[in-house]
Amino acid sequence: MPQSFMFTDRVFIITGSTKGIGYATAELLAAAGASVVISSRKAENCQQALESIQSTGGSALAVPCHVGSEEQLQNLIERTVDHFGRLDGLVCNAASNPVYGPSSKVDYSAFELIMRNNVYSAQRLAALAAGHLPPGGSIVLISSIAGLMGSRLIGTYGLSKSAEMQLVRNLALELGGQGIRVNGVAPGLIETDFSKALMSNQALLDKIKSDSALGRVGQPQDIARVVAFLLSDAAGYVTGQTIIADGGTTIADPF
Ligand code: NAP
Repeated sequence: MPQSFMFTDRVFIITGSTKGIGYATAELLAAAGASVVISSRKAENCQQALESIQSTGGSALAVPCHVGSEEQLQNLIERTVDHFGRLDGLVCNAASNPVYGPSSKVDYSAFELIMRNNVYSAQRLAALAAGHLPPGGSIVLISSIAGLMGSRLIGTYGLSKSAEMQLVRNLALELGGQGIRVNGVAPGLIETDFSKALMSNQALLDKIKSDSALGRVGQPQDIARVVAFLLSDAAGYVTGQTIIADGGTTIADPF
């Protein structure tokens, strides 16, 4: 394996990494030699994911963190640096989507929660991490193709995912002088608990399968591999970009 794809001695924080895309990313990075910090709201979920990574020989630390809490974000960074003595990268993956339906009916408390957990938390965690990341450090935000299209169902969530793409560009410019790269991944429909409501809509599933280039929904590992590329030195000249990984959903011709 060329050195640029290896993660030996590197330390990465992945928020929302007890299941789904976050866990698949932590599992892949640990298998490639990194130390990973497992994190989510629930301590018992963190412990389970930690044991699962350690059972395959991976190096990991569990630090529960609700990304909406400033105190817990600070603790996440401090515990990581205290324990491993370094931090090489960050994956802002945890997100909330508490409402379905027209965005015009979303009240301010739901709007604020979505923006805080999906956008502000990433901005804040990136700022906290930036003080520790070395030149060559990398930050990845998990956005969504929902941020590229209008939606009657998940419009406010899409607004937050669109904002994450802009945040990627802003942070890339702000941190580029320190040699830190910032990128995003915009997944299409991925089979996880988060997408259960969409996955259980058979008509939608059939449409995605028939319209998309690859004819299937994604698995968490499909996204983990893209994240690993962006964290690696192989992506050393890539910054400020959001890579769409959707099996060719957004390129489908509407006719
Ligand atoms: P998932 O399988 O439901 O996993 C979500 C993870 O985040 C869990 O570990 C959960 O654990 C944690 N979490 C939830 N709220 C949190 C919070 N406030 N603070 C900290 N951790 C929190 O979800 P997923 O599908 O992998 O989604 C991951 C990311 O991919 C999200 O940013 C989502 O927007 C994006 N995405 C998903 C899809 C899709 O189709 N699945 C498509 C496009 C983009 P706890 O419950 O223990 O907190």
